[in-house]
Amino acid sequence: MLLLKEGSQRTTGKDALRNNLSAAIAIAEAVKPTLGPRGRDKMLVDSLGDITVTNDGATILKEMDVQNPAAKLMVQASRTVDDEVGDGTTSAVVLAGALLEQASNLIEKDIHPTLIASGFQHAAEIADKVIDSISKQADDDLILQAALTSIGNKVEGDAKRKLAKIAVDSVSQIKEERDGKIIIDQDLIQITKKQGMGLLDTELVYGVVLDKEVVHPAMPKVIRDAKIAIIDASLEIEKTQIDAEIRIADPSQMKAYLDEEENMLKEMVDKIHASGANVVICQKGIDDVAQHFLAKLNILAVRRAKRSDMEKLAKATGGNIVTSLEDLSPSDLGHAELVEERKIGDDKMVFVEGCANPKAVSILLRGGLERAVDEAERVLKDALSVVADLYRSKAIVPGGGAAEAEIAKTLRAEAAKIGGREQLVVEAFADAIEAIPRTLAENAGLDSVDVITELRAVHEKPDGVNMGVSMDGTEPVDMFKLGVVEPALVKRQVIRAATEAASVIVRIDDVIMSARSKAPSTPKGGPSEGSND
Ligand code: ADP
Ligand code: MG
Repeated sequence: MLLLKEGSQRTTGKDALRNNLSAAIAIAEAVKPTLGPRGRDKMLVDSLGDITVTNDGATILKEMDVQNPAAKLMVQASRTVDDEVGDGTTSAVVLAGALLEQASNLIEKDIHPTLIASGFQHAAEIADKVIDSISKQADDDLILQAALTSIGNKVEGDAKRKLAKIAVDSVSQIKEERDGKIIIDQDLIQITKKQGMGLLDTELVYGVVLDKEVVHPAMPKVIRDAKIAIIDASLEIEKTQIDAEIRIADPSQMKAYLDEEENMLKEMVDKIHASGANVVICQKGIDDVAQHFLAKLNILAVRRAKRSDMEKLAKATGGNIVTSLEDLSPSDLGHAELVEERKIGDDKMVFVEGCANPKAVSILLRGGLERAVDEAERVLKDALSVVADLYRSKAIVPGGGAAEAEIAKTLRAEAAKIGGREQLVVEAFADAIEAIPRTLAENAGLDSVDVITELRAVHEKPDGVNMGVSMDGTEPVDMFKLGVVEPALVKRQVIRAATEAASVIVRIDDVIMSARSKAPSTPKGGPSEGSND
C-alpha cells in the first residue's frame, strides 16, 4: 500500500535517529570554535556574495541555510535563547550537541530515547536549583562586569569599556517601573550605524538621531531650547482634491487658485507657529511653499521621518504625535535642549538631544569598516540584553564554565542517589554540560583534559564554586575576581533550550520528507523560513 506521494523520503527507527543525531552534532561542531573570548570569527558568504564576519552563533546559523530537520531544531534552540535573553546562543547549541553525543552513547547501551529525554529533563531541573543556589545579587558594578563579559574579546580595550558603559547607561535610562515590575522595551534604544571614525567615537544620545537632513537650506541648523511638533500629517495640499474638480478658464482664475493653495499652506504653518513650536518633525511630506513659510519663521523642519523614530521621539521628548494640525496644542510639543543638524561621515543627520529624563535614547555607532560596525552592533545588542536581563532579575552567576562545573558536580552526586538506568542518563548530562568549560579551554589552545581534571578537583573544595577556566593556563581562577559573570537568566535559558532541543531530537524515529518542497518544514515549532529579525 502506498501511503506517501511518490518521491517522498522516509527514514525510520535507528536510521532516522542516526541521521538526525549526526546532522545536529555537525551544527554544534560548526559553531564550537567561536565560543568564548578566544573564539575565532567565521566569514560567511551568502549566495549573492555578501560577506558577514562574525563570532555570533545565532548569526552563523541564520546564514547557514540549514536543511536537515534535526539541524533546524538546533537553529531554533539558539533563536529561542536569542529572543528570550539575547545572549548565550552559541552555548545553547554547543550544549545541545554535547547532550546528543551523550544520547548517542546511551542508545548504544540500549537505553530508550524516552528515558533519555525524561532523564535529561530531570537533570535540567537539578541544574536550575544549582543556579539558584550559586547566584549572587548583582550591583551596578557587577552589571557592568556582565556587559563586559558579554562583549568578550569581540571588541577590545577602551572601545570595549565604552560599549559596556553605554549599554548600562542606556538600559538604566529607559527602564521603567510599573506595579513594582521593571519594564524594559529594548526597541526604545535606537541604534544608528554610521561607517567612519572608530568604535571609540560611538556615542550615547539622550534623545533621538534622525537619519535625515533639515528640509530647506534657509532654515536654521541649530535650535536651542527646542519645542518640537511631532506631526503625522502631510504639510501638502493633496493633488487629488484638485485634479478632478477644477477646470481653469482664464489666467486670473489660475492665479486665484494658486493663491488659494498658498493660503492653505500658510494656514497650516501658522497653526504650527501658533502652538509655539520652533522645530517640526513630520512623518509625511512638506510642500516647498510650506518649507518656505517655515523657514521665514525660523522653524527647523524634517520631513518623512520613520514611524519608529516618531514614536521614539515622542518618548524621548515627552511630546505627543499629532495626526491633525487642528489638534496641535502647546501641550503636545516635545522638549529638547538642542536640535541640530550635523555632518556625520558623508551624511547629514539631525540630533534631538539633551532631553530631560528621556524614555528613549539613541546610540550612534561608529566604526571603520562596514562589517566591523555590523559586528559591533551584534555585540552591543548582546550587551544590552545582558544588562536588561540583570535589571529584570539581579541574579548573577560566575562565567568561564564555573557554573557548569558546579552543576556537573551536583548532578553526579544526585545521580548516585537516583540509581538504575536514569542514573546513567543524569551522569551523561553532567558530562555534556562540561562541554562548555571544555570548549572554552580548547579554543584557548589549552589541554582540555588537564583543564577539566583541575576544574573538577577544585569544585570538590568548599570554596571552589566560582572557579572557572582561565584563558591563560590550566589552573582554574575565581570568575568573580576576574569579573567574568553572566546573568542567571541566560544560564537557565541556555540549559532549558538545549535540553528541549536534545529531547525532541532524540525521540524522533520517523522522518517523512515530502517530495516537492525544497525546504522541508521542521516538526512543530521549527524556524520559519525567511524570517528576519
Ligand atoms: P554565547 O553566544 O554562548 O554567549 P560567547 O562566545 O559569548 O558565546 O561565549 C560565552 C562564554 O564565554 C561564557 O561561558 C562565558 O562565561 C565565557 N567567557 C567570557 N569571557 C571569559 C573569560 N575572560 N574567561 C573565561 N571565560 C569567559
Ligand atoms: Mg555571548
